[in-house]
Amino acid sequence: MPISRIDLADAGSPEALVKRILQAEPNLSAPVPIQELCSRLDILRIEDFETDEFEGGLVTDAKRSEGTILAKRGGEPRRRFTIAHELGHFLMAHHVPDQPGRFLCKSSDLLRVTAKEGDQRQRREVEANRFATLMLMPPHRLRGAMAAFRDPDLQHVLVLARDFAVGKEVAARAYVQYRPERIAIVVAGNGRVQRCYRSLSFPAIICAVGSPVPTGSLYHSSPHRPNIASDIAACRPDLWIDVKRDLRAPDLYEQVYVQQNGFAMILLRLEAVPEESAEERRLNEGWRHRFHSGRR
Ligand SMILES: [Zn+2]
Repeated sequence: MPISRIDLADAGSPEALVKRILQAEPNLSAPVPIQELCSRLDILRIEDFETDEFEGGLVTDAKRSEGTILAKRGGEPRRRFTIAHELGHFLMAHHVPDQPGRFLCKSSDLLRVTAKEGDQRQRREVEANRFATLMLMPPHRLRGAMAAFRDPDLQHVLVLARDFAVGKEVAARAYVQYRPERIAIVVAGNGRVQRCYRSLSFPAIICAVGSPVPTGSLYHSSPHRPNIASDIAACRPDLWIDVKRDLRAPDLYEQVYVQQNGFAMILLRLEAVPEESAEERRLNEGWRHRFHSGRR
């Protein structure tokens, strides 16, 4: 691996950094050897972090001459994401830690995808997560892997998680961004909505974070076999999205994946409402007019 920090000069954003790294290492294989990359980029040690409060940490100086990454022990995908996140803090010179020389990141920081305006701490966590995601799932590799997939399916998310050695939620987040369809993946924990990742064209989910998965959802019907993505089935669209009463409801499909530990993913796919033909529109309008005016 020939890369060194000199290759990254002037790159400040997550996107610019990952671009430079991939230019210097065009043949980086998947799963990306994140620990080896760290050691080439002046991270001298990666140590176990013995704490319940934090998921990861980085010990370094203001000049970033070298660093030590701390990562909680646990599943390999989770640990790899933590290491990549801390490497992001290390490489982004404008990231200033709360305490001099020491970044400490909680598990909620490692899930953060948006920041409140003006909140520098949240912004830096979002940037570190963006760096980690791009680094562990390099866009050209991800596009290559996804070219083989047909219709949206949670099975693909499991394949990506396995092949890139990332968590299922990290894979799900990337998956909805790279698919052209209107899809969303709702992450649930013990029957409650925890987080939702949507493609740009998917409307907002009406279920608040912390609320139970809607009763009519496929999630509740028939016991699902753990660790196997269910069949795909149509559902009532108003379970998940706002449906205007006087418009034709779009078709919404669900697919469910559950684990024994209570973690679940629900894939939602919205089908475009077919354009009304001129004839249909004339008939519908005529009907609506008669209905409203009370004539028969
Ligand atoms: Zn962090």
